[in-house]
Amino acid sequence: MNFKQQYLHPKWQKKRLEILSRDNWTCQNCQDNESTLHVHHKEYIKGRKVWEYDNYNFITLCEECHRIGHEIDNHNKKYNDVLKSIRNYSENNNIIRKDRVVRNINIRYCLDRLKKLNGGNHV
Ligand SMILES: [Zn+2]
Ligand SMILES: [Zn+2]
Repeated sequence: MNFKQQYLHPKWQKKRLEILSRDNWTCQNCQDNESTLHVHHKEYIKGRKVWEYDNYNFITLCEECHRIGHEIDNHNKKYNDVLKSIRNYSENNNIIRKDRVVRNINIRYCLDRLKKLNGGNHV
């Protein structure tokens, strides 16, 4: 069953209603209760059906907050990749990370990487 089929499954519909009513049919980020609401997964675990999570893994968000939330997630993922490569970079070069000069180099390196990941337009 792919994601699309899972989201059409009665078990998801039931879960979704449960979360919406728990959250009073209101975006938990901006308190909007007029816009379309989404039930967002804070975390996905590989191999689980979309409804096979405890309720604390879900949050009701309006369309806009949901979109922004996912953008931030993506950004964090990219940021973590950057941090990981900085760690590798530091280890490979036997650099002690607490050193102030090195930290400045890392920040510059980090910004360069972010620029590249963002297609060179902006950070
Ligand atoms: Zn989501
Ligand atoms: Zn919202």
